[in-house]
Amino acid sequence: MFRSTDLMELGERAHEMRLSINDPAVVTYVVDRNINYSNVCAATCDFCAFYRQAGDEEGYVLPIETILQKIQELADTGGTQVLMQGGLHPRLPFEYYTDMLRAIKDRFPQVDLHSFSAPEIYFFHKKYKRPIAEILAHLKEAGLDSIPGGGAEILSDRVRKEITKGKCLTKEWLSVHEEAHKLGMKTTATMMFGHIETIEERVEHFEHIRALQDRTGGFTAFIPWTFQGQHTDMEGVPESGAIDYLKTLAIARIYLDNVPNVQASFITQGKQVGQMALFFGANDMGGTMMEENVVAATGIHNCSNEKEVRRLVEDAGFSPRKRNTQYQLLN
Ligand code: SF4
Repeated sequence: MFRSTDLMELGERAHEMRLSINDPAVVTYVVDRNINYSNVCAATCDFCAFYRQAGDEEGYVLPIETILQKIQELADTGGTQVLMQGGLHPRLPFEYYTDMLRAIKDRFPQVDLHSFSAPEIYFFHKKYKRPIAEILAHLKEAGLDSIPGGGAEILSDRVRKEITKGKCLTKEWLSVHEEAHKLGMKTTATMMFGHIETIEERVEHFEHIRALQDRTGGFTAFIPWTFQGQHTDMEGVPESGAIDYLKTLAIARIYLDNVPNVQASFITQGKQVGQMALFFGANDMGGTMMEENVVAATGIHNCSNEKEVRRLVEDAGFSPRKRNTQYQLLN
C-alpha cells in the first residue's frame, strides 16, 4: 500500500472500512485541554522545541493551584478531558504527581484525567525505583483514568536511538501500555512520522500496535501526525505534506482493523486537511485543544474550539457528536 500511487483508491478503501467500523453518519470529538505541568526534561529529543534542561531560566513547573485554575476554565466551557504531560523532570518527588491528581479529582470528579505519556511513566519507574505496574497503580488510585499515546514517535529502535536520548525505547513504550491495559486502563497510540524513518519502519510501528491490541484490546484510538521541525534540532529535515499524511492515515485505518477509532490531526495538518482526513479513514476529530504548547513551540498554531470543530465536521457532511475519553457519546 505504501508503494501505491493511487491515493484515491487507498482513501476509498480506508473510508469504506471506517464506515463499517464506526457510525457512518457521525464524527466525534472531545472538548479538552492540554496542560504541560513542566517543560523541564532530562531527555533530549532532536524534534522537540518544547523542553528546557534543568537550571535553564525558561524552565518551569506549574503550581497545582495554576493547574486547577486551568481546569476550571475547561470545566466552564463544558470540557471533559485533561491531557497533562511534562518533560521528564529530574527532581520532582513522586508525590507532586499523585497530589496533583488527587487535587484535580477532588475538585473536578467529572473530568477525565488522560495524562502522562509512556516515556514519563517509564521515567517514574526508573527514577522512583518501583515496577511499572506499581507506579501505574499508584497513579490510578490517585485519580488517573487513562494514558495518552504520546512519545511513541516511531516504534523502531533504530529511529528512536537516532532522534532521542534518554527516552524509553520501543519495548519499554509498549510495556507501559500493556501494563496499563492489564490494570483495566484504556490508552491511545500515536505515531509521529515523516522524518528519518523508512516506510518499513512505519510498518514496524503498525505491527507493534496491532500485535499489542490483539493481546489486550486496550487501545481506544490510533492518532498519526506529521513531524514539524521548525525551531528544533531537526529543522531542515523535509516535512511530509498532505499526500503523505492522508496516505499513511488511510493505511493505518486499513491495517489496524482491531483499533476502533482513528483520529484526524488538524493540529499539525491544519483544519482543511483535517476535514479531508474524514474521507481517508478518520472517524474522530480528536480534542478541541483549548490549550496546546508542544506543537505550538514549533510555530504551528491550530488550536480550535467546539463551535469550529462542529462546523468543520458539518461542512464535511457528518453529524458532530461530543464524546468523552472512553468514546461514549455525550450529546
Ligand atoms: S519530546 Fe518529551 S522527552 Fe523528548 S525532549 Fe521533549 S519533553 Fe523531553
